[in-house]
Amino acid sequence: MSYNIFSLARNALSGHKNWQPAWREPEPKASYDVVIVGGGGHGLATAYYLAKEHGITNVAVLEKSWLGSGNIGRNTTIIRSNYMLEGNNPFYEWSMKLWEGLEQDFNFNAMVSQRGIMNLFHSDAQRDAFARRGNAMRIHGVDAELIDREQVREKVPFLSFDNARFPIQGALIQKRGGTVRHDAVAWGFARGADSRGVDIIQNCEVQGIKMEAGKVVGVETSRGYIGCNKLALCAAGNSSEVAAMADMKLPLESHVLQAFVSEGLKPYLDTVVTYGVGHFYVSQSDKGGLVFGGDIDGYNSYARRGGLPTVEHVIEAGVSMIPGISRVKILRSWGGIMDMSMDGSPIIDKTHIDNMYLNCGWCYGGFKATPASGWCYAWTIAKDGAHELNSQMRLDRFRRGYMMDEKGMGAQPNLH
Ligand SMILES: Cc1cc2nc3c(=O)[nH]c(=O)nc-3n(C[C@H](O)[C@H](O)[C@H](O)COP(=O)(O)OP(=O)(O)OC[C@H]3O[C@@H](n4cnc5c(N)ncnc54)[C@H](O)[C@@H]3O)c2cc1C
Repeated sequence: MSYNIFSLARNALSGHKNWQPAWREPEPKASYDVVIVGGGGHGLATAYYLAKEHGITNVAVLEKSWLGSGNIGRNTTIIRSNYMLEGNNPFYEWSMKLWEGLEQDFNFNAMVSQRGIMNLFHSDAQRDAFARRGNAMRIHGVDAELIDREQVREKVPFLSFDNARFPIQGALIQKRGGTVRHDAVAWGFARGADSRGVDIIQNCEVQGIKMEAGKVVGVETSRGYIGCNKLALCAAGNSSEVAAMADMKLPLESHVLQAFVSEGLKPYLDTVVTYGVGHFYVSQSDKGGLVFGGDIDGYNSYARRGGLPTVEHVIEAGVSMIPGISRVKILRSWGGIMDMSMDGSPIIDKTHIDNMYLNCGWCYGGFKATPASGWCYAWTIAKDGAHELNSQMRLDRFRRGYMMDEKGMGAQPNLH
């Protein structure tokens, strides 16, 4: 069913009783051309682009829980393409371009809002680093502007400009950055994939990977054995566990990241602001709640909840940047499992095992990458090789010594 003004009018006149479910609930078939493990944003986007761009529709997405229960429905919804390194920048900019046409493309309102993102800086050294990043972005044709303290004040007057310890000196802004309603992204890709013939199978946990003569031939699941010609891992925070079923050890650590939402407020923040020193980021949702987050909890975990010390740490950073936040009530907080890689950059690649592909290592920045990740992964699976855009996101870069360390932190996954 296409969503348009005519279907809206027709359904309004019939009391909204005839809308079809956005996707089917099929029983798993005995085998598929491609089985994707993980019905998060990346898995669903991969299925969508496999069908749309490559005509591969005999595909199943296996999700152990309900669709959107993972990080795709838990993130703070920020999109941007303010990356500096060669291997990252064109990829994230391609993602931004896909976001810009996504709602028309998959015929679903994902509330893509290019309200801009403002990264504050607080010292001369940080200004220089941001200027360098902005220049690298502009060389790649990505929009970036460096603004001074007074220009920041004009846009967001309620920040703490009197903060003696971390004075705001200015900001790097990307006006095309912003937010997207995260679960609508899962629903839109799911609907688009399903309408092209992809089977989305919820409550179907992959429990084992079956190999014959060194090749993957299928998966054992909580709903029985499912054969496949190609197996695409896309399990984000659970990637290490799933890869271990094929005896693969990944250069990843799983960490928990928390997010928070406040009570609804009148509109007062019309952009995304990030705090350069306190690692705090905030936007205001269309319902009025402040959506914000900070650092990961800092210990390995598969739990989707965090600890109180990090709650305190994040709120302290928020109050230090926007003192008025101390009077706002927090409604909810939650956690998600982050697949933190050793250099902070992702992996989209074939593996050394025949028929098995890998997509992981998104750290806490994979939401913005969802369309490009699906697009490039679909290419890699269909053509059995990397597209130029993900040509540096190879698994063997750690062995070869070609890190993509955007933050310059070294092999410390908890710091990326
Ligand atoms: C609190 C928080 C805030 C964030 N904020 C941002 C942000 O502002 N901007 C940004 O760009 N990124 C952000 N991220 C990161 C981003 O959400 C993730 O990097 C991205 O969503 C990961 O890809 P995914 O959507 O496919 O993951 P997921 O949605 O987690 O998908 C993986 C799926 O695999 C399933 N799975 C796992 N094991 C199995 C199995 N054995 N069998 C079957 N299924 C399995 C899981 O149930 C899950 O649904 C944030 C993350 C969190 C947690």
